[in-house]
Amino acid sequence: MKLLIAGAGIGGLTAALSLHSVGMRDVRVLEAVPEIRPLGAGVNLLPNAVRELAALELAENLADLGADLTELGYYNHLGQEIWREPRGWAGGSRWPQLALHRGALQTALADSVRARLGDAAITTDARVTGFTPLPGGGVEVSVAHRAGDRVTERIRADVLVGADGLRSAVREALYPQEGEPRSNSTTVWRGVTRCAPFRGGHAMVVMGDGRWKAVVYPLAVRPDTEGLIPVNWAISRAATEGPQGRDAAAAASDDGFAAAVAGWRCGDLRMAALVADSGAVSSFPMLDRDPVPRWSFGTVTLLGDAAHAMAPMGSNATTQAVLDARSLAHALATHDDPVAALAAYDRDRRPRMNRLQLLNRAKGPEVVIDLVHERAPEGFGRVGDVVPTARLAQVARAYARAAGFDVPSVNAPSPYGRPIRPRSAVRER
Ligand SMILES: Cc1cc2nc3c(=O)[nH]c(=O)nc-3n(C[C@H](O)[C@H](O)[C@H](O)COP(=O)(O)OP(=O)(O)OC[C@H]3O[C@@H](n4cnc5c(N)ncnc54)[C@H](O)[C@@H]3O)c2cc1C
Repeated sequence: MKLLIAGAGIGGLTAALSLHSVGMRDVRVLEAVPEIRPLGAGVNLLPNAVRELAALELAENLADLGADLTELGYYNHLGQEIWREPRGWAGGSRWPQLALHRGALQTALADSVRARLGDAAITTDARVTGFTPLPGGGVEVSVAHRAGDRVTERIRADVLVGADGLRSAVREALYPQEGEPRSNSTTVWRGVTRCAPFRGGHAMVVMGDGRWKAVVYPLAVRPDTEGLIPVNWAISRAATEGPQGRDAAAAASDDGFAAAVAGWRCGDLRMAALVADSGAVSSFPMLDRDPVPRWSFGTVTLLGDAAHAMAPMGSNATTQAVLDARSLAHALATHDDPVAALAAYDRDRRPRMNRLQLLNRAKGPEVVIDLVHERAPEGFGRVGDVVPTARLAQVARAYARAAGFDVPSVNAPSPYGRPIRPRSAVRER
Protein backbone atom coordinates (compact mmCIF):
# COMPACT_ATOMS: atom_id res chain seq x y z
CA MET A 1 0.00 0.00 0.00
CA LYS A 2 1.37 3.43 -0.94
CA LEU A 3 0.73 6.17 1.63
CA LEU A 4 1.31 9.90 1.21
CA ILE A 5 1.35 12.21 4.22
CA ALA A 6 1.06 15.97 3.70
CA GLY A 7 3.07 17.76 6.39
CA ALA A 8 6.21 16.87 8.36
CA GLY A 9 5.03 18.32 11.67
CA ILE A 10 4.77 16.21 14.80
CA GLY A 11 1.58 14.58 13.53
CA GLY A 12 2.82 13.70 10.03
CA LEU A 13 6.18 12.38 11.21
CA THR A 14 4.63 10.29 13.99
CA ALA A 15 2.17 8.92 11.44
CA ALA A 16 5.06 7.85 9.20
CA LEU A 17 6.78 6.11 12.12
CA SER A 18 3.54 4.49 13.26
CA LEU A 19 2.77 3.19 9.76
CA HIS A 20 6.30 1.83 9.48
CA SER A 21 5.88 0.08 12.82
CA VAL A 22 2.90 -1.88 11.51
CA GLY A 23 4.80 -3.02 8.45
CA MET A 24 3.97 -0.33 5.90
CA ARG A 25 7.08 0.39 3.88
CA ASP A 26 5.85 2.66 1.07
CA VAL A 27 5.27 5.81 3.13
CA ARG A 28 6.25 9.28 1.93
CA VAL A 29 5.98 12.58 3.79
CA LEU A 30 5.61 15.72 1.66
CA GLU A 31 6.59 18.92 3.49
CA ALA A 32 5.95 22.39 2.09
CA VAL A 33 8.96 24.20 3.59
CA PRO A 34 12.32 23.89 1.82
CA GLU A 35 14.06 22.79 5.01
CA ILE A 36 12.79 21.45 8.34
CA ARG A 37 14.10 23.94 10.88
CA PRO A 38 13.58 23.78 14.67
CA LEU A 39 10.87 26.43 14.86
CA GLY A 40 8.49 27.29 17.68
CA ALA A 41 8.95 27.06 21.42
CA GLY A 42 7.72 24.58 24.02
CA VAL A 43 5.20 21.78 23.56
CA ASN A 44 3.94 19.16 25.99
CA LEU A 45 3.59 15.44 25.60
CA LEU A 46 1.04 14.19 28.09
CA PRO A 47 1.58 10.67 29.51
CA ASN A 48 -0.83 9.07 27.02
CA ALA A 49 1.31 10.38 24.14
CA VAL A 50 4.55 9.31 25.85
CA ARG A 51 3.12 5.77 26.17
CA GLU A 52 2.45 5.75 22.41
CA LEU A 53 5.90 7.11 21.57
CA ALA A 54 7.40 4.46 23.85
CA ALA A 55 5.57 1.84 21.76
CA LEU A 56 7.49 3.28 18.79
CA GLU A 57 10.73 3.03 20.81
CA LEU A 58 11.17 6.78 20.77
CA ALA A 59 10.36 7.95 24.28
CA GLU A 60 13.78 7.18 25.76
CA ASN A 61 15.46 9.65 23.41
CA LEU A 62 12.77 12.27 23.86
CA ALA A 63 13.02 12.24 27.65
CA ASP A 64 16.63 13.41 27.27
CA LEU A 65 15.50 16.37 25.15
CA GLY A 66 13.17 17.98 27.67
CA ALA A 67 11.85 18.11 31.21
CA ASP A 68 9.52 15.73 32.98
CA LEU A 69 6.79 17.75 34.64
CA THR A 70 5.56 16.48 37.97
CA GLU A 71 3.32 19.37 39.00
CA LEU A 72 0.73 21.64 37.40
CA GLY A 73 -0.63 24.60 39.34
CA TYR A 74 -3.24 27.27 38.61
CA TYR A 75 -2.81 30.58 40.46
CA ASN A 76 -4.37 34.00 40.46
CA HIS A 77 -2.33 37.07 39.46
CA LEU A 78 -1.20 37.46 43.08
CA GLY A 79 0.34 33.99 43.00
CA GLN A 80 -2.32 32.53 45.30
CA GLU A 81 -2.87 28.86 44.64
CA ILE A 82 -6.24 27.92 43.13
CA TRP A 83 -5.54 24.32 42.21
CA ARG A 84 -2.40 22.21 42.11
CA GLU A 85 -2.07 18.61 41.01
CA PRO A 86 0.74 16.10 40.60
CA ARG A 87 1.47 15.19 37.01
CA GLY A 88 3.09 12.27 35.19
CA TRP A 89 4.93 9.89 37.49
CA ALA A 90 4.14 12.01 40.53
CA GLY A 91 0.44 11.65 39.77
CA GLY A 92 0.59 7.85 39.56
CA SER A 93 1.01 7.49 35.77
CA ARG A 94 3.38 4.83 34.50
CA TRP A 95 4.56 7.38 31.95
CA PRO A 96 5.90 10.89 32.45
CA GLN A 97 4.57 14.17 31.12
CA LEU A 98 7.33 15.72 29.02
CA ALA A 99 7.87 19.36 28.09
CA LEU A 100 10.28 19.96 25.26
CA HIS A 101 11.12 22.33 22.45
CA ARG A 102 8.90 21.71 19.43
CA GLY A 103 11.93 21.98 17.15
CA ALA A 104 13.86 19.38 19.12
CA LEU A 105 10.90 16.99 18.97
CA GLN A 106 10.33 17.55 15.26
CA THR A 107 14.04 17.10 14.47
CA ALA A 108 14.22 13.89 16.52
CA LEU A 109 11.15 12.49 14.77
CA ALA A 110 12.44 13.49 11.32
CA ASP A 111 15.80 11.81 12.09
CA SER A 112 13.95 8.65 13.13
CA VAL A 113 11.85 8.68 9.96
CA ARG A 114 14.98 8.96 7.82
CA ALA A 115 16.78 6.25 9.82
CA ARG A 116 13.87 3.79 9.68
CA LEU A 117 12.19 4.56 6.34
CA GLY A 118 15.16 5.95 4.40
CA ASP A 119 16.25 9.44 3.39
CA ALA A 120 13.73 9.54 0.54
CA ALA A 121 10.80 9.19 2.94
CA ILE A 122 10.66 12.95 3.56
CA THR A 123 10.51 15.35 0.62
CA THR A 124 10.80 19.03 1.49
CA ASP A 125 9.78 21.90 -0.80
CA ALA A 126 6.73 19.80 -1.68
CA ARG A 127 3.47 21.60 -1.01
CA VAL A 128 0.34 19.54 -1.45
CA THR A 129 -2.12 21.72 -3.36
CA GLY A 130 -5.00 19.33 -3.96
CA PHE A 131 -6.02 15.83 -4.88
CA THR A 132 -8.37 13.90 -7.13
CA PRO A 133 -9.93 10.62 -6.05
CA LEU A 134 -9.29 7.92 -8.68
CA PRO A 135 -12.24 5.92 -10.02
CA GLY A 136 -10.72 2.52 -9.17
CA GLY A 137 -9.71 3.62 -5.67
CA GLY A 138 -6.77 5.62 -4.43
CA VAL A 139 -6.00 9.25 -5.08
CA GLU A 140 -3.87 11.49 -7.30
CA VAL A 141 -2.15 14.20 -5.28
CA SER A 142 -0.93 17.51 -6.75
CA VAL A 143 2.33 18.81 -5.36
CA ALA A 144 3.98 22.16 -6.09
CA HIS A 145 7.73 22.68 -5.78
CA ARG A 146 9.28 26.11 -5.43
CA ALA A 147 12.57 24.89 -6.89
CA GLY A 148 12.35 24.27 -10.62
CA ASP A 149 9.88 27.01 -11.46
CA ARG A 150 7.02 25.83 -9.26
CA VAL A 151 6.58 22.61 -11.16
CA THR A 152 3.43 20.75 -10.30
CA GLU A 153 3.93 17.05 -9.85
CA ARG A 154 1.12 14.48 -9.66
CA ILE A 155 1.66 11.51 -7.41
CA ARG A 156 -0.66 8.52 -7.15
CA ALA A 157 -1.21 6.82 -3.81
CA ASP A 158 -3.60 4.46 -2.10
CA VAL A 159 -4.10 6.80 0.86
CA LEU A 160 -3.54 10.53 1.47
CA VAL A 161 -3.22 11.79 5.05
CA GLY A 162 -3.61 15.54 5.51
CA ALA A 163 -1.32 16.34 8.44
CA ASP A 164 -0.70 19.81 7.10
CA GLY A 165 -1.64 21.88 10.11
CA LEU A 166 -3.99 24.72 10.95
CA ARG A 167 -4.25 25.95 7.34
CA SER A 168 -4.41 22.50 5.80
CA ALA A 169 -4.76 22.36 2.03
CA VAL A 170 -6.23 18.87 2.29
CA ARG A 171 -8.90 20.09 4.70
CA GLU A 172 -9.61 23.06 2.46
CA ALA A 173 -10.27 20.68 -0.41
CA LEU A 174 -12.63 18.64 1.79
CA TYR A 175 -14.32 21.69 3.33
CA PRO A 176 -14.01 24.44 0.69
CA GLN A 177 -16.54 26.71 2.42
CA GLU A 178 -14.75 26.75 5.76
CA GLY A 179 -12.46 29.73 5.27
CA GLU A 180 -9.97 31.10 7.78
CA PRO A 181 -9.42 29.63 11.25
CA ARG A 182 -11.61 31.03 14.01
CA SER A 183 -10.18 33.77 16.22
CA ASN A 184 -11.26 34.28 19.83
CA SER A 185 -9.61 37.73 19.81
CA THR A 186 -6.93 36.59 22.22
CA THR A 187 -3.31 37.52 21.49
CA VAL A 188 -0.41 35.37 22.66
CA TRP A 189 3.21 36.44 23.20
CA ARG A 190 5.74 33.65 23.57
CA GLY A 191 9.41 33.28 24.35
CA VAL A 192 12.09 31.11 25.92
CA THR A 193 14.29 32.48 28.70
CA ARG A 194 17.42 30.92 30.23
CA CYS A 195 16.95 31.30 33.96
CA ALA A 196 17.37 29.51 37.27
CA PRO A 197 14.97 26.58 37.83
CA PHE A 198 11.78 27.60 39.65
CA ARG A 199 9.46 25.72 41.99
CA GLY A 200 11.79 22.72 42.17
CA GLY A 201 12.43 22.54 38.43
CA HIS A 202 9.55 20.28 37.31
CA ALA A 203 6.49 22.53 37.60
CA MET A 204 4.11 24.11 35.14
CA VAL A 205 2.60 27.37 36.39
CA VAL A 206 -0.55 28.94 34.93
CA MET A 207 -1.49 32.34 36.41
CA GLY A 208 -4.18 34.79 35.44
CA ASP A 209 -6.44 37.69 36.27
CA GLY A 210 -9.36 36.97 33.97
CA ARG A 211 -7.92 38.96 31.08
CA TRP A 212 -4.18 38.28 31.14
CA LYS A 213 -2.75 34.82 31.58
CA ALA A 214 0.78 33.43 31.85
CA VAL A 215 1.82 29.82 31.24
CA VAL A 216 5.38 28.89 32.26
CA TYR A 217 7.26 25.57 32.25
CA PRO A 218 10.86 24.32 32.00
CA LEU A 219 12.26 22.74 28.83
CA ALA A 220 15.16 21.01 30.58
CA VAL A 221 15.90 19.59 33.99
CA ARG A 222 19.70 19.74 34.24
CA PRO A 223 21.03 23.29 34.62
CA ASP A 224 23.94 24.37 32.40
CA THR A 225 27.31 25.45 33.79
CA GLU A 226 25.80 28.80 34.78
CA GLY A 227 23.00 27.07 36.69
CA LEU A 228 20.37 28.03 34.09
CA ILE A 229 17.70 26.10 32.20
CA PRO A 230 15.54 27.13 29.23
CA VAL A 231 12.05 28.09 30.39
CA ASN A 232 9.09 28.41 28.02
CA TRP A 233 6.63 31.19 28.71
CA ALA A 234 3.46 32.38 26.99
CA ILE A 235 1.41 35.40 27.97
CA SER A 236 -2.06 35.85 26.53
CA ARG A 237 -4.49 38.72 26.53
CA ALA A 238 -8.16 38.06 26.01
CA ALA A 239 -10.07 40.86 24.30
CA THR A 240 -12.66 42.46 26.55
CA GLU A 241 -14.40 44.27 23.75
CA GLY A 242 -14.63 44.40 19.99
CA PRO A 243 -15.99 41.99 17.44
CA GLN A 244 -14.85 38.41 17.21
CA GLY A 245 -12.06 38.10 14.73
CA ARG A 246 -11.00 41.74 14.88
CA ASP A 247 -7.71 42.54 13.18
CA ALA A 248 -5.41 40.07 14.83
CA ALA A 249 -2.23 41.66 13.50
CA ALA A 250 -3.14 45.00 15.03
CA ALA A 251 -3.90 43.31 18.33
CA ALA A 252 -0.57 41.54 18.30
CA SER A 253 1.39 44.75 17.75
CA ASP A 254 0.47 46.02 21.24
CA ASP A 255 3.34 44.95 23.44
CA GLY A 256 1.91 46.08 26.77
CA PHE A 257 2.09 42.44 27.83
CA ALA A 258 5.33 42.90 29.76
CA ALA A 259 3.88 45.71 31.87
CA ALA A 260 0.66 43.76 32.43
CA VAL A 261 2.46 40.90 34.19
CA ALA A 262 5.43 42.83 35.62
CA GLY A 263 4.26 42.44 39.21
CA TRP A 264 3.26 38.77 38.92
CA ARG A 265 5.16 36.32 41.12
CA CYS A 266 4.53 32.72 42.00
CA GLY A 267 6.91 31.54 44.69
CA ASP A 268 10.40 31.97 43.23
CA LEU A 269 9.04 32.57 39.72
CA ARG A 270 9.08 36.24 38.69
CA MET A 271 7.33 37.07 35.44
CA ALA A 272 9.11 40.43 35.04
CA ALA A 273 12.55 38.79 34.97
CA LEU A 274 11.33 36.02 32.70
CA VAL A 275 10.10 38.48 30.08
CA ALA A 276 13.02 40.90 30.45
CA ASP A 277 15.67 38.20 29.97
CA SER A 278 13.90 36.39 27.13
CA GLY A 279 15.33 35.58 23.75
CA ALA A 280 13.21 36.46 20.73
CA VAL A 281 9.54 37.09 21.50
CA SER A 282 6.89 36.14 18.97
CA SER A 283 3.23 37.04 19.01
CA PHE A 284 0.25 35.55 17.28
CA PRO A 285 -3.54 35.41 17.52
CA MET A 286 -5.13 32.44 19.27
CA LEU A 287 -6.96 30.43 16.63
CA ASP A 288 -8.88 27.21 16.39
CA ARG A 289 -11.25 25.36 14.08
CA ASP A 290 -14.81 24.19 14.40
CA PRO A 291 -15.35 20.46 14.87
CA VAL A 292 -16.30 18.78 11.58
CA PRO A 293 -18.64 15.83 10.96
CA ARG A 294 -16.05 13.78 9.05
CA TRP A 295 -12.29 13.52 8.71
CA SER A 296 -12.18 10.52 6.37
CA PHE A 297 -13.51 10.71 2.82
CA GLY A 298 -12.77 7.49 0.94
CA THR A 299 -8.99 7.13 0.93
CA VAL A 300 -8.26 10.67 2.18
CA THR A 301 -8.20 11.65 5.83
CA LEU A 302 -7.04 14.37 8.23
CA LEU A 303 -4.77 14.19 11.26
CA GLY A 304 -3.47 16.51 14.00
CA ASP A 305 -4.17 20.23 13.69
CA ALA A 306 -5.55 19.72 10.20
CA ALA A 307 -8.28 17.58 11.75
CA HIS A 308 -8.89 19.31 15.08
CA ALA A 309 -6.95 22.54 15.62
CA MET A 310 -7.82 23.58 19.16
CA ALA A 311 -7.21 26.52 21.46
CA PRO A 312 -3.99 25.94 23.43
CA MET A 313 -5.49 24.96 26.78
CA GLY A 314 -4.45 21.86 28.65
CA SER A 315 -1.29 21.19 26.58
CA ASN A 316 -3.07 18.90 24.17
CA ALA A 317 -2.39 19.69 20.50
CA THR A 318 0.85 17.74 20.12
CA THR A 319 -0.34 14.89 22.34
CA GLN A 320 -3.52 14.37 20.33
CA ALA A 321 -1.62 14.44 17.02
CA VAL A 322 0.52 11.56 18.32
CA LEU A 323 -2.60 9.61 19.33
CA ASP A 324 -4.19 10.22 15.92
CA ALA A 325 -1.07 8.84 14.25
CA ARG A 326 -1.12 5.66 16.30
CA SER A 327 -4.85 5.17 15.80
CA LEU A 328 -4.56 5.61 12.04
CA ALA A 329 -1.74 3.07 11.74
CA HIS A 330 -3.63 0.60 13.91
CA ALA A 331 -6.74 0.98 11.75
CA LEU A 332 -4.78 0.45 8.53
CA ALA A 333 -3.06 -2.59 10.02
CA THR A 334 -6.30 -4.20 11.12
CA HIS A 335 -8.46 -3.59 8.01
CA ASP A 336 -7.81 -4.96 4.52
CA ASP A 337 -9.75 -2.16 2.87
CA PRO A 338 -8.18 1.31 3.29
CA VAL A 339 -11.59 3.00 3.03
CA ALA A 340 -12.87 0.90 5.95
CA ALA A 341 -9.64 1.59 7.83
CA LEU A 342 -9.94 5.37 7.49
CA ALA A 343 -13.59 5.18 8.53
CA ALA A 344 -12.57 3.22 11.64
CA TYR A 345 -9.90 5.80 12.46
CA ASP A 346 -12.49 8.56 12.10
CA ARG A 347 -14.87 6.72 14.46
CA ASP A 348 -12.12 6.14 17.00
CA ARG A 349 -10.69 9.64 17.17
CA ARG A 350 -13.06 12.28 15.82
CA PRO A 351 -15.92 12.23 18.36
CA ARG A 352 -13.48 12.63 21.25
CA MET A 353 -11.54 15.39 19.47
CA ASN A 354 -14.77 17.20 18.55
CA ARG A 355 -15.59 17.37 22.27
CA LEU A 356 -12.07 18.41 23.22
CA GLN A 357 -12.08 21.25 20.69
CA LEU A 358 -15.21 22.66 22.29
CA LEU A 359 -13.90 22.12 25.82
CA ASN A 360 -10.72 24.01 24.94
CA ARG A 361 -12.75 26.79 23.37
CA ALA A 362 -14.43 27.12 26.78
CA LYS A 363 -10.91 27.38 28.32
CA GLY A 364 -10.58 23.71 29.31
CA PRO A 365 -9.09 23.15 32.76
CA GLU A 366 -7.88 26.77 32.94
CA VAL A 367 -11.45 27.94 33.44
CA VAL A 368 -10.87 27.65 37.20
CA ILE A 369 -8.73 30.81 37.06
CA ASP A 370 -11.67 32.78 35.64
CA LEU A 371 -14.15 31.22 38.07
CA VAL A 372 -12.05 32.38 41.01
CA HIS A 373 -11.25 35.77 39.52
CA GLU A 374 -14.92 36.59 38.90
CA ARG A 375 -15.71 35.96 42.56
CA ALA A 376 -12.52 37.23 44.18
CA PRO A 377 -10.73 39.70 41.87
CA GLU A 378 -8.63 41.10 44.73
CA GLY A 379 -7.52 37.70 46.02
CA PHE A 380 -8.79 35.36 48.68
CA GLY A 381 -8.09 33.93 52.10
CA ARG A 382 -9.06 30.32 51.37
CA VAL A 383 -9.81 29.30 47.80
CA GLY A 384 -12.41 26.82 49.05
CA ASP A 385 -14.46 29.78 50.28
CA VAL A 386 -14.55 31.18 46.75
CA VAL A 387 -15.10 28.02 44.68
CA PRO A 388 -15.68 24.68 46.41
CA THR A 389 -12.60 22.48 46.19
CA ALA A 390 -14.80 19.63 44.96
CA ARG A 391 -15.75 21.77 41.95
CA LEU A 392 -12.09 22.52 41.17
CA ALA A 393 -11.25 18.83 41.44
CA GLN A 394 -14.16 17.94 39.19
CA VAL A 395 -12.98 20.33 36.45
CA ALA A 396 -9.49 18.79 36.52
CA ARG A 397 -10.78 15.21 36.58
CA ALA A 398 -13.30 15.73 33.79
CA TYR A 399 -10.68 17.36 31.55
CA ALA A 400 -8.15 14.56 32.12
CA ARG A 401 -10.77 11.99 31.16
CA ALA A 402 -11.84 13.96 28.09
CA ALA A 403 -8.24 14.18 26.86
CA GLY A 404 -7.42 10.58 27.80
CA PHE A 405 -4.64 11.26 30.30
CA ASP A 406 -6.49 10.27 33.47
CA VAL A 407 -4.38 7.74 35.33
CA PRO A 408 -6.53 4.62 34.71
CA SER A 409 -6.57 5.29 30.95
CA VAL A 410 -2.86 6.05 30.75
CA ASN A 411 -1.87 3.00 32.80
CA ALA A 412 -3.93 0.65 30.66
CA PRO A 413 -2.05 -0.93 27.74
CA SER A 414 -2.00 1.07 24.51
CA PRO A 415 -5.17 0.43 22.51
CA TYR A 416 -3.03 0.68 19.38
CA GLY A 417 -0.19 -1.72 19.83
CA ARG A 418 1.79 -4.45 21.37
CA PRO A 419 2.85 -4.38 25.03
CA ILE A 420 5.98 -2.39 25.73
CA ARG A 421 8.95 -3.49 27.76
CA PRO A 422 10.09 -1.22 30.58
CA ARG A 423 12.91 1.04 29.50
CA SER A 424 15.54 2.85 31.45
CA ALA A 425 14.97 6.57 30.94
CA VAL A 426 11.21 6.55 30.42
CA ARG A 427 10.18 3.44 32.23
CA GLU A 428 6.88 2.10 33.32
CA ARG A 429 6.24 2.50 36.99
C1 LIG B 1 6.34 26.60 12.73
C2 LIG B 1 5.44 26.11 13.85
C3 LIG B 1 5.74 26.43 15.15
C4 LIG B 1 4.92 25.98 16.20
N1 LIG B 1 5.26 26.28 17.48
C5 LIG B 1 4.51 25.83 18.51
C6 LIG B 1 4.87 26.07 19.86
O1 LIG B 1 5.89 26.71 20.15
N2 LIG B 1 4.07 25.58 20.84
C7 LIG B 1 2.95 24.85 20.55
O2 LIG B 1 2.26 24.42 21.49
N3 LIG B 1 2.60 24.58 19.28
C8 LIG B 1 3.34 25.04 18.26
N4 LIG B 1 2.97 24.77 16.96
C9 LIG B 1 1.77 23.95 16.72
C10 LIG B 1 2.04 22.48 17.10
O3 LIG B 1 3.21 22.03 16.48
C11 LIG B 1 0.85 21.65 16.69
O4 LIG B 1 -0.32 22.21 17.28
C12 LIG B 1 0.92 20.19 17.12
O5 LIG B 1 2.23 19.73 17.29
C13 LIG B 1 0.20 19.32 16.10
O6 LIG B 1 1.05 19.24 14.98
P1 LIG B 1 0.63 18.94 13.49
O7 LIG B 1 1.69 18.04 12.94
O8 LIG B 1 -0.77 18.51 13.39
O9 LIG B 1 0.69 20.37 12.79
P2 LIG B 1 1.91 21.35 12.56
O10 LIG B 1 2.87 21.29 13.66
O11 LIG B 1 1.33 22.66 12.22
O12 LIG B 1 2.63 20.74 11.25
C14 LIG B 1 2.07 20.86 9.96
C15 LIG B 1 3.18 20.71 8.94
O13 LIG B 1 2.61 20.72 7.64
C16 LIG B 1 3.35 21.56 6.78
N5 LIG B 1 2.43 22.01 5.73
C17 LIG B 1 1.50 23.00 5.78
N6 LIG B 1 0.81 23.06 4.63
C18 LIG B 1 1.31 22.07 3.83
C19 LIG B 1 0.99 21.61 2.53
N7 LIG B 1 0.00 22.16 1.80
N8 LIG B 1 1.70 20.58 2.00
C20 LIG B 1 2.70 19.99 2.72
N9 LIG B 1 3.05 20.41 3.96
C21 LIG B 1 2.35 21.41 4.51
C22 LIG B 1 3.84 22.66 7.70
O14 LIG B 1 4.97 23.32 7.17
C23 LIG B 1 4.17 21.86 8.97
O15 LIG B 1 5.48 21.34 8.94
C24 LIG B 1 3.76 25.21 15.90
C25 LIG B 1 3.47 24.89 14.57
C26 LIG B 1 4.30 25.30 13.54
C27 LIG B 1 3.97 24.92 12.10
